[in-house]
Amino acid sequence: MKLEVEAALVDGRLVPGNVEIVDGRIAAYGLRGRNGRGIAAPGFVDVQVNGFGGVDFLEAGADGYRRAGEALLETGVTSFLPTLITAPEEELVTALAEVPAVADGGPKIVGVHLEGPFLAERRLGTHPPAARRDPDAALLERLLDAGPVRMMTLAPELPGALELIDLLVAREVTVSCGHSDATAEQANAAFDRGARMVTHLFNAMRPFNHRDPGIVGAALARDDVFVEIILDGIHLAPTTAAVVWRAAAGRVALVTDAVAAASVAGGSYSLGGVALQVQDGAVRAPEGMLAGSLLTMIDAVRNLHTLGVAIEDALAAASTVPARALGLRETGRLDVGLPADIVVLDDNLDVERVVVGGETRVVV
Ligand code: ZN
Repeated sequence: MKLEVEAALVDGRLVPGNVEIVDGRIAAYGLRGRNGRGIAAPGFVDVQVNGFGGVDFLEAGADGYRRAGEALLETGVTSFLPTLITAPEEELVTALAEVPAVADGGPKIVGVHLEGPFLAERRLGTHPPAARRDPDAALLERLLDAGPVRMMTLAPELPGALELIDLLVAREVTVSCGHSDATAEQANAAFDRGARMVTHLFNAMRPFNHRDPGIVGAALARDDVFVEIILDGIHLAPTTAAVVWRAAAGRVALVTDAVAAASVAGGSYSLGGVALQVQDGAVRAPEGMLAGSLLTMIDAVRNLHTLGVAIEDALAAASTVPARALGLRETGRLDVGLPADIVVLDDNLDVERVVVGGETRVVV
C-alpha cells in the first residue's frame, strides 16, 4: 500500500515523496511518482492520558478502552499509556487487570503510567490524599505484578523513594519525578539513580526560584532528563513554555494529561472518583484546582508550532521524544523496517488519516 503523501517526517527532516507500507511495516519513503497530498509523520505517543472520549481509565473495562481508543485515534495518537492517578490499592489492582493485552482496533497500549500513590502530600493537586502513600516496596511490587506498568510518577524526596527507583529501573519501568516538593539536590539524586523524566513540568511541584530551583531547575539544567509539558495554554504561560523549549528542545515530550471529558461536550465528569467541572476549556476540581486537561495531541503540536517551533520539531515532541523517554525502539519514528504507525496531516495541520500497524484506521 502507498500512502500517496507529498512528504514524510524522517529523523526530524521532511523528506519529499511517497511512503510505501508492506506487511504492516514501512518499506520505503521518498518515492517519486504522482503528486500526493499531506505529510506522513510518526503517530503520536501520549504517555500521560487519564481518560478520553467520556472514559476514565481508572474505571474502564474493555468497552471503555475501545471507545477511548477510537477517540484518541482521531487525534493522531497511535500509542498511549493509560494513566492511573492515586487510588486505593484494590482500585489500582482492579484497573490494572482491566488493561487490554491487545488494542482492539485502537491505538497501541504501551503499558500503564501509574501517577502515584507515592507522591508528596503538599503537591497532590486533585489526587485523593487518603490514598497517598509513602514509598512502600512491597506495595510497589504488588502493583507491578497486577498489570503492565511501564512508567511511574513518584516524589523522589520521600523516605525510601530512591530504593523504589532502583526497583523500578530493574523492572524496566520509566521513572518520572512529579507531584513533588523535591529540591534540586533531591531531584538530582533521583536522576543520578535512574529517574529520567519529569511529569508535567512546573505543575504540582516546588516552584522554580532563584536560590531554590527545585525539580524544574534541576531537570532543565542537565541534558539527560526528559520533561513533559501540558501545552494547552492553561497549565503553562506561553513564555514559560518557550523557556522550557529553549532549555530542553529535543527532550521535551508533549502530553495531554487529558481526562474523560476530553473530546466530548462540556459538563461534569469524574477523575478517579473526584467530580470535575469543565468550564472555558479548563477542567477543575470543586476547589478550583486544575485537574488534567481537555488537550489533544494534535492541538499540543499546533500550540508548540504557534510558539515558533519548527513543525518537524513539534511533531517529534509528540512522537519520537516520548518514545525515546520510554526506551521504545520501534515506536515514534518513521523509517524503513519499523511498524507503520503514522498520522497523515493536511496543510492546516489537521489529522487526515491515521495508520496503525499498516492499517488505515481513521479517515477524518
Ligand atoms: Zn498530575
